[in-house]
Amino acid sequence: MNMRRLALDPAKTDAVLISHCHPDHYADAEMLIEGMTKGGFKHTGTLVGSVTALDGGNGFSPAVSGYHQSITSSVVRAVPGNSFEIKGMGIDVTPTSHSDPTGVGFRFHTSNGIISYVGDTEKSDSIVPAHRGCRVLILNLTRPLGSRVPKHLCTEDAAEIALAIKPEVVLLTHLGMKLVHEGVKRQEEHIERVSGCRTLAAEDLMTVQVGKTIRTARSKGRDIIEDTGPVDLDR
Ligand SMILES: [Zn+2]
Repeated sequence: MNMRRLALDPAKTDAVLISHCHPDHYADAEMLIEGMTKGGFKHTGTLVGSVTALDGGNGFSPAVSGYHQSITSSVVRAVPGNSFEIKGMGIDVTPTSHSDPTGVGFRFHTSNGIISYVGDTEKSDSIVPAHRGCRVLILNLTRPLGSRVPKHLCTEDAAEIALAIKPEVVLLTHLGMKLVHEGVKRQEEHIERVSGCRTLAAEDLMTVQVGKTIRTARSKGRDIIEDTGPVDLDR
């Protein structure tokens, strides 16, 4: 639905990546595979998934049916430490520490630098080394200041990770209800103050362009309602 509002054509999808076997991370995967393969008529595109997402296990059923796995042109099991390529772009699989023990993050080597998606995880010693050198650090921030829970990031953790990695931009997503109630701005400001990194919370239909500069835009469907322009890195 949101792809349509952004004028993105599912049939032009090259790959579907699933970080772990929780439904808020995979629920649309089969729909997207239907689009990518033109309803199964064209065996094309790559499905990348954590071991549980593809095979089930640890109490999980597979997130993608055998049928939908079979209509793609290739299936890649994402195991931390491995790397693969999609259309010439290198992608590293990174570790997480989450309630799906086979969950992963990804690090995308684009022609304009590295974009890191850390995935659902708590702060562990392996996170910072796995994502060092990225320009954009995408953090799944579930809990606000003073509310740490196991297996997820809270604002203090996000600030420490950002301080250690020093990306140009920190993007926050996967914002939990308690965090939204306590104020997204407060969390952004804390992370920015501690790390010195420009920090923005993602919004529905927000786009981020990573070129020489990094630009974000808020849109309402196909109409850009606010081009926030280059992210001000000196703020
Ligand atoms: Zn999860």
